[in-house]
Amino acid sequence: MSQSSYSPHPERYQHSVGYRFCGKSGLKLPQISLGLWHNFGDVDNTAEAEKMIQFAFDNGITHFDLANNYGTPAGSAETNFGKILKKNFASHRDEMVISTKAGHEMWPGPYGDGGSRKYLISSLHQSLKRMNLDYVDIFYSHRYDPNTPLEETMGALSDMVKQGKALYIGLSKYPEDKAREAFRILREKGTPCLIYQDRYNIFSRNIENSHFPLLKEHGIGFIAFSPLAQGILTEKYLHGIPEHSRAALSYGFLQKSQITPEVLAKVEELNRMAQRRGQTMAQMALAWCLRTPDVNSVIIGASSVNQIQENIDALKNISFTDDELWRIGELGA
Ligand code: NDP
Repeated sequence: MSQSSYSPHPERYQHSVGYRFCGKSGLKLPQISLGLWHNFGDVDNTAEAEKMIQFAFDNGITHFDLANNYGTPAGSAETNFGKILKKNFASHRDEMVISTKAGHEMWPGPYGDGGSRKYLISSLHQSLKRMNLDYVDIFYSHRYDPNTPLEETMGALSDMVKQGKALYIGLSKYPEDKAREAFRILREKGTPCLIYQDRYNIFSRNIENSHFPLLKEHGIGFIAFSPLAQGILTEKYLHGIPEHSRAALSYGFLQKSQITPEVLAKVEELNRMAQRRGQTMAQMALAWCLRTPDVNSVIIGASSVNQIQENIDALKNISFTDDELWRIGELGA
């Protein structure tokens, strides 16, 4: 990539998405973060990918969420993000919170999956190389691994912080009892967990009663992934499956079978409610996640700058009437 003519918008923080403290820490996260799971790989539109990062940053979106396996082929999202950073943001690294993860299968053989020290530390080294970074801001254990002792996984995460290769530790997709135990181990090692990441949206809210109270008790932040249920909670699938949408892609993680007539009937009704509120379906879905202080940030995915703009506008109205909340609860169940 050649040098960019882009320079960040000088008023990006005056007209920004706004920030919330991550749990009881001193780190602020933008209310909307950008995730690079889909649409930033080698198979995707790299020009649009670059524009999306620029547009996000120009609107105060300072947090970019990655993982070792993001992109098709796996790893390409980190490589492309590294190129975009070098070309556009060389002098803005300290304005960004960049996260990555390891825990899902990444390379063949016994050391490329799970929660072992061997896998997590070598994966972090690979991620730093791909992104051309000295450190990441947050390193996550991407999922709970029942075959590795928690002491080993947490020890590896803690050492990354002590070695300055990660500033903070995050956990993702841990059962409540394992998360509780992991938080205790990390605290004892002097490297407390900063943030917990899990799926949270109108159709998926089972962590509300389990994890939210636990996180509050420990002062740990929460960041929601797939707040739009991978695009189902938008208008895009109401009239069929559009070409190039995630459900249409052979390498996308959204299965056509998830878009059933029952689901679409619920989205139709939610969409009518969104219209009465003066919002799009996507905007109402994001506003709903951010209605509670239990959620510090939502990580959106996007395939275009227009989607990011639409989603940022969700912040204009994040309050709901009791009737709306009740009906959303009924439809989401
Ligand atoms: P979303 O639920 O926000 O889904 C994003 C998709 O929704 C986009 O790719 C796009 O689909 C569609 N979309 C977004 N905005 C609009 C809009 N305004 N109008 C119409 N369609 C829209 O999130 P993701 O599932 O992508 O997850 C977000 C991030 O969360 C990931 O990138 C990753 O960083 C993180 N994550 C973490 C996981 C973990 O295990 N810890 C698991 C999953 C995600 P289309 O591409 O079809 O246009």
